[in-house]
Amino acid sequence: MIDDLIRRGDLKGLLAAAKEFHGHICPYVAIGIRASLIGMERLGVSRLNFEESIEERIMAIVECNNCFLDGVQIATGCTVGNNSMVYLDLGKNALTLVKRKDWEGVRIYVDSDAIRDRYFPEEALALFDKVVVRREGTPEEVSTLNEKWEQIGYTMLELPEDEFQVQSVKVAPLEPAPIFRSVRCSSCGELTMEIRVVHVEGRPYCLRCAKRSFHAVIGRGIEEMQ
Ligand SMILES: [Zn+2]
Ligand SMILES: [Zn+2]
Repeated sequence: MIDDLIRRGDLKGLLAAAKEFHGHICPYVAIGIRASLIGMERLGVSRLNFEESIEERIMAIVECNNCFLDGVQIATGCTVGNNSMVYLDLGKNALTLVKRKDWEGVRIYVDSDAIRDRYFPEEALALFDKVVVRREGTPEEVSTLNEKWEQIGYTMLELPEDEFQVQSVKVAPLEPAPIFRSVRCSSCGELTMEIRVVHVEGRPYCLRCAKRSFHAVIGRGIEEMQ
């Protein structure tokens, strides 16, 4: 369905689909979609298609975990769950789209400051500061902000290509998602991927039961947790 929207160039339909998935329409989900469309066109590829052999498929590498990333997941079909999305914890609004066949890719970076100065109305920014940053908005102001944000989102879908820095890149090959055996934890009894199991006195344990730290993707990026 999203494939059809892209083929038809139905950007509004695409943003409506984004709302279903992402929960709202906002500037950065739209910028993620726009960056993906530019990347797919430059590379001459279409959305991720599981009917193609693995070598024919595309892969997305994103450098932030915000609304932009969801825009990329929607438009390219590369998601964290289907192992075609790699998240680099670099904190930049950038997408690299790459072909697995030859690891030729294109990196697209967007400068948020420049976009904001040129396309975000002053009153929308003031409202964002009050509602989101200071959390002082009235319910009315929250809904006004949503409307304004949605309008900016539609504008972002039509951003001229020269608002993006686009460069050809060669990406170091990444292994296709390996399948690991599962091992049962000696304490909780839950099956755990073997590379996440530790052995204590010769018995396998999951990281939680072994009280070891592990990594989690949270709002601020990838962090170590206990
Ligand atoms: Zn958003
Ligand atoms: Zn356990």
